[in-house]
Amino acid sequence: MTLRAKLLATYIGLTVAGVAVFSIFSSWQIKSYLDRRAESALTAHVEAVSALVRGGELPADSLANHEMTIRRMARSLNLRLTFIRGDGLVLFDSDIPLDSLTVVENHLHRPEIEGSRSGGFGVNRRESATVHEEFLYAATMVVRETPHGADTVYVRVARPFSDIQALDRQIQIIIWAIGVLSVIIIAFVSSRASRRITRPILEIASAARAIREGELSRRIPVTTKDEIGTLASSINDMAGKLGNDIIQLKKLERVRSEFLGNVSHELRTPIFSLQGFLETLLDGAVDDPAVNRDFLEKAHKHAGRLNALLNDLIEISRIESGEMKMSFRFMPVADLLREVSDEMAPAAAKKNIRLTVDTGECTDDKVYADRERLKQVMINLLDNAIKYTEDGGSITVSARREGTGAVSVEVADTGTGIPGQHLGRIFERFYRVDKDRSRDVGGTGLGLAIVKHIVEAHGGAIRVESIVGKGSRFMFTLRR
Ligand code: ADP
Repeated sequence: MTLRAKLLATYIGLTVAGVAVFSIFSSWQIKSYLDRRAESALTAHVEAVSALVRGGELPADSLANHEMTIRRMARSLNLRLTFIRGDGLVLFDSDIPLDSLTVVENHLHRPEIEGSRSGGFGVNRRESATVHEEFLYAATMVVRETPHGADTVYVRVARPFSDIQALDRQIQIIIWAIGVLSVIIIAFVSSRASRRITRPILEIASAARAIREGELSRRIPVTTKDEIGTLASSINDMAGKLGNDIIQLKKLERVRSEFLGNVSHELRTPIFSLQGFLETLLDGAVDDPAVNRDFLEKAHKHAGRLNALLNDLIEISRIESGEMKMSFRFMPVADLLREVSDEMAPAAAKKNIRLTVDTGECTDDKVYADRERLKQVMINLLDNAIKYTEDGGSITVSARREGTGAVSVEVADTGTGIPGQHLGRIFERFYRVDKDRSRDVGGTGLGLAIVKHIVEAHGGAIRVESIVGKGSRFMFTLRR
């Protein structure tokens, strides 16, 4: 059963019940009102006629003399008039000829007569035994003092009930016709009203179906501010969020597969070279003293590259999977900078690069950091500075206080510099300004990506400034 059918059934059911209750109640009310009115009209007539009897205008003992008057009066009032003697003998009846009265049975025990005996009016409704029609009867007792004692006469008025019933029936027909008409009108109105309610629900359902089928750009028009409007805008919000999530997921997926592609490409180069040199050696070059050592050294170099690449890959995947646990503590920053510089000094010396450390006012400052990770950052930055600085250049590692709570660490070189358009991307994985040169100097393309991750895990940010031909400066801050 659809929602609309349910709504309709409810509306129409309620209307039918209401109309039925109203009609039954009002018919009953009208019927009893008509009965009461008929009775009171009848008793008024009884009263009028009995006044004539009491006043002597219609003497009970000479009714036959007034036959025409009485019959005319009865006819014009559409009434039946009966006069009954105290012992029940019918003296006169407007519906019965005078000469037939002798056969009319004694009326003493007619309910209305019995009812009037205690004074006032006796009223009864029944089918007449005399004329076989339903009548409403009203009677009263008139006692007249005569010279020869008290004389009792009952005056009875009756009217056929059929005309009251006809009126009642007419009124009932009108009431029920109005009832049926209102049911029809309500059915029509509620059919439209229920459509107004269910149409937006159907729209929502079809939109929800479309969204489920992947049509995430589908939106439901929100036209009202009621519960349905709220539902529609919630579904719209949900579709919007889902859409965003999916865009995000797709982007992640793309980044992931790009990375995978890069990794296999990066691995392939050193493996192929290694294989090449080893094969050449095996093919006989091993016995050629002019090249064998050179080839072995080259194979060794590529094995080293492979090793560096794998180490960086392991490192970055540990960082990105969240597997890398950091252990922060306050530690002297100057010590660490000096230690790393000492370790890198031989490499710098090899290229005749002057490497200086300037810790200035920070000599005794402690920074909040993971010592091993921070060391890795400094090694990567210094390694790059040495790699991308020509022989005879210089590198400065320095620390400066920044405000009250921070220390800024900087690695500056007088190297090749980085063209402006690359500055925004050098922290991406495998991004290199000059691929051949990077490979030549043993770069993996992952060093700065690792640096960025670690610095960010310390709550800082890595920045770079560079002028081509003049040199580069990498900076980040630590909590003090
Ligand atoms: P790589 O292993 O290739 O050095 P990195 O992620 O460490 O990878 O650096 C990315 C690129 O940024 C390098 O290939 C190089 O082009 C550039 N770069 C990094 N440091 C410097 C620097 N000190 N001077 C000039 N170029 C730099």
